Amino acid sequence: MIDIACGVDLGGTKINTGIVNSKGEILYNIKIPTEAQKGPYEVIERIIKSIYEVVDKTGVKLKDLSGIGVGSPGPLDAEAGIVLCPPNLTGWVNIPLTEILKKEFGIKIRINNDANAAALAEYLFGKGRGINNFVYITVSTGIGGGVIINGKLYNGANSNAAEIGHHTINFDGPRCGCGNYGCFEAFASGTALAGFAKDVVDSGKDTIIKEIAGNRAIKAEYVFEAAEKGDKIAIELIEKEAFYLGIGIANIMSFYNPERIAVGGGISCHWKVLYDKIMATVNKRALKPNKEICDVVKAQLGENVGLLGAALLVLRESKGVL
Ligand SMILES: [Zn+2]
Repeated sequence: MIDIACGVDLGGTKINTGIVNSKGEILYNIKIPTEAQKGPYEVIERIIKSIYEVVDKTGVKLKDLSGIGVGSPGPLDAEAGIVLCPPNLTGWVNIPLTEILKKEFGIKIRINNDANAAALAEYLFGKGRGINNFVYITVSTGIGGGVIINGKLYNGANSNAAEIGHHTINFDGPRCGCGNYGCFEAFASGTALAGFAKDVVDSGKDTIIKEIAGNRAIKAEYVFEAAEKGDKIAIELIEKEAFYLGIGIANIMSFYNPERIAVGGGISCHWKVLYDKIMATVNKRALKPNKEICDVVKAQLGENVGLLGAALLVLRESKGVL
């Protein structure tokens, strides 16, 4: 029997809501702006409306859904269904999201960290298929991750495991959005790469990155574009990016001893440029048995990985998925 569920991928800028079946197929989805600046209750109203809309458009009845799953930025308490205080959602402090949605819809509600949900999707329907010990990393604005141990999503003691972006790779490094210094995310995220590029441009070094950006703020994307055109400074920046990613990935091999690490998110679109450079650092730094057992690959599922994962928070509990 094929089950269906509603998934909501709640992001700082977009809400992606859809109906997903237990074969991992998205039947219908919509993306709307989060408008996070309006505060939690306005955002929750938008989530509720989006759920009614996908239900209406697909002609599905609420009672036919296995439930509603929400992937939300952390930190959160998945068990209690409470979003604690995500830095990129203004005013969200201890919001009982599960309770609010349960009251509205009267069906099963599950919430989890967005990167954990994405890891579940990649494990079940992407590059993690059949890999019992698997780590998914997303590298874009920030860095997040999710870990599958012995075929199960690892939540940790209070659902904040695998905050991979916030392990320190340089104790003396720049301040991270989380308040700590020198986090993996502060060195290797797309935002970090753009920041390093801005420093270089501001220092007056000879690079076409500024030209590519024009009047726009510098983005990681422009660094890759400049490197492709042979810009030496951009090539150096990308070498540094791959070096930092390599350090983080080598550490992840030590933490979890996975058989595979899949890298998703915006930066992974440049996998061909990055891969050899990342692996040069991994091979130098990771413990031999850990690196021998583990391959590092580009994630397979694209921009809807978070939506798929959110629905799977519910569907994995029904037969046929996990
Ligand atoms: Zn941090």
